[in-house]
Amino acid sequence: MLQLHPVVSDFIMSKTSWVRIEEILDGKKTENIVNLRGWIYRTRSSGNIVFAVIRDATGILQATVKKGNLSDEEFEDAKKALVESSIELKGDVKEDKRAPGGYELRVTRFNVVQFAEPFPIVEDQSPEFLLDQRHLWIRSQKLTSVLKIRSTVVGAIHKFFRERGYFEFDAPVLQPNQCEGGSTLFEVKYYDKKTYLAQTWQLYAEAAVFSLEKIYNMGPTFRAEKSKTSRHLSEFWMAEMEAAWMDLYDITEVAKDEVKFILNEVLKNNKNDLGVLGRDIKKLQHIADSKFPTITYTKALEILNEKENMNVEWGKDLRTIEENKLLNHFDTPVVVTNYPLEVMAFYKPKDPKDPKTALCFDMIAPEEYGEIVGGSQRSIDIEYMKRRLKETGESIENYEWYFDLRKYGSVPHSGYGLGVERLVSWICSLDNIKDAIPFPRTMLRFRP
Ligand code: ATP
Ligand code: MN
Repeated sequence: MLQLHPVVSDFIMSKTSWVRIEEILDGKKTENIVNLRGWIYRTRSSGNIVFAVIRDATGILQATVKKGNLSDEEFEDAKKALVESSIELKGDVKEDKRAPGGYELRVTRFNVVQFAEPFPIVEDQSPEFLLDQRHLWIRSQKLTSVLKIRSTVVGAIHKFFRERGYFEFDAPVLQPNQCEGGSTLFEVKYYDKKTYLAQTWQLYAEAAVFSLEKIYNMGPTFRAEKSKTSRHLSEFWMAEMEAAWMDLYDITEVAKDEVKFILNEVLKNNKNDLGVLGRDIKKLQHIADSKFPTITYTKALEILNEKENMNVEWGKDLRTIEENKLLNHFDTPVVVTNYPLEVMAFYKPKDPKDPKTALCFDMIAPEEYGEIVGGSQRSIDIEYMKRRLKETGESIENYEWYFDLRKYGSVPHSGYGLGVERLVSWICSLDNIKDAIPFPRTMLRFRP
């Protein structure tokens, strides 16, 4: 069935200059003759006319193909070409209020680069089918917009830290230790031994702040999450920072600035994409312009009790439902500090001013998107950390190198991790975190 065009077209051979759809939609090419290449997004024909909507990486545009305006052979090709066929066009750009985007191309050349087979994805298919067809579904307008926004987010993270004097620092992905609890580790056969995939970059980052002082990284992170939620992936990207001489307060302020910086970059670069996704842009702009509050865990329980009539026992971690209810009382992300010490990871230190709590924080997003950032000051108390690790059945010998960091010029230091997909989900108002990453991996899926 596969019909490749017999020869490379004269378009390609002639080193034509190509316009992009966004230039046409910007009105820069009106009344010009242009060359355009891309894929057929939608097409219908009746008698002597074909209306094809063309897409390229920058947008979609209506192309009108009328018999008589081009060779008969090319007109027949235009009629025959199915959705997703790759094409090269020449035509006149005209303003047309009825066309999507307000412009159309009146086609005078229509060259099919490859006639597509019938595309397996049609309207109203189930999320599972679309995940099976992910390699094709990533061409959809929705995922194209999400991936463009994701690209802005990633670029913004690098820009934010580099402009502020942080060095990019890479940690190993294969690690012999846990950091966030043994139950979510992915074990990897390592020659005749075993090791694990990184749950975080943190322990290695703590080694590096004694030379580089301020560092950041963004890398793949692996957690064998056994619960199925719309907020957990098995492989996700975490953007982390770690800094010497900074305390809990300092890093909460960095995290707020970072999230606002990212929002502003997206608002500057991706208005169209936010529109495609139906995102309320005014709401995002308001958040980017607002101050994010900081409250304690204890205060959060008071709010839940007084305003939501919810009684959470002091000492229990906040669940999703409680985070969502709490955020009913804010219209920006909120930083919650001082969670109960006992439920926290071994490296989170006691707050000397409130010893039942840890010097840690989560940033919780509004609109039911939950935790987007988690971080803490780091403990410098070797005996305390040893005790906590022993309680969870860890062998202390594996951590001796980490305790060394507290013996040679230790200083207060702190850091946090921001979940890239959590943030992208919220910015794009996605129903499920799986759409925030090109090829999602979850407990039930690692294909394609
Ligand atoms: P949660 O309670 O939601 O599972 P966590 O407390 O395990 O989060 P941290 O260990 O603090 O998360 O990790 C830092 C950040 O990484 C989180 O704030 C979140 O944005 C992101 N994150 C953590 N686990 C996942 C996951 N399985 N999938 C996607 N992002 C995640
Ligand atoms: Mn978790």
